[in-house]
Amino acid sequence: MKSKIILSFLALVVLVIGCATNPFTGKQTLALVPNSQILPMSFQQYKEFLSEHQVVKNTTDAKMVNDVGHKIADAAEKYLKANGYEGYLTDYRWEYNLVESPEVNAWCMPGGKIVIYSGILPVTKNEAGLAAVMGHEVAHALANHGQQRMSAGQIQQLGAVAGNIALANKPENQEIFNTAYGLGSNLGVMLPFSRSHESEADQIGLMLMAIAGYEPIAAAELWERMQAQEQGTPPEFLSTQPSSSTRISNIRSWAPSAKEEARKFGVTSFRK
Ligand SMILES: [Zn+2]
Repeated sequence: MKSKIILSFLALVVLVIGCATNPFTGKQTLALVPNSQILPMSFQQYKEFLSEHQVVKNTTDAKMVNDVGHKIADAAEKYLKANGYEGYLTDYRWEYNLVESPEVNAWCMPGGKIVIYSGILPVTKNEAGLAAVMGHEVAHALANHGQQRMSAGQIQQLGAVAGNIALANKPENQEIFNTAYGLGSNLGVMLPFSRSHESEADQIGLMLMAIAGYEPIAAAELWERMQAQEQGTPPEFLSTQPSSSTRISNIRSWAPSAKEEARKFGVTSFRK
């Protein structure tokens, strides 16, 4: 009983001190582990990942990944600045790398560290399709979805060690980080996000790709191609990014407002 009271008290403390505002939704989110701790871990893991994989350089595809990545990052910076969140991305160190691998996969780690697997390019098909994948992955990072998952891991651990309230700079943070991002033994294999996080990333991602000058409907077409792939051997990407008809119809219904948002930034034509 006593430990239950202590736990509820801890949970309350944690909620009071550990919240951040999601600049895209205005929602309060759980952020027990500050970016100042997450980003160095992220950058380190990214470096290790790249050293263990074949990074494609100086090809047309590598250039496309870099170009589209830049445009999505610019769109994010413009949007945040216009909405009073200048400085939100100060600690970001954007990087976009194409990795040689048959896997149909892509991800963005906290701080803007993006990996596109060459195996996803036949599915993304064109620049707009790639922008849809990047917009979505970047949106997970910007909305701190991984951080929230990490915070959830930390609360679980708090439960296990009730009474230990020293949250900051705990060595276990590294472990929780690895779990939250699916790193460690399975480097780069992300755990699935919740359905609401997926939906949020779709919506934010659409807006980013539209501001970057890409037709948001291309995202719906991308997910349709993903769905078609699912018939055979489901791509790795789909184990964490379910491609459902609901998702595709949501994307279609959000596309006009994504374009509306983009027009505020002077974008008048949208590349397919
Ligand atoms: Zn996702």
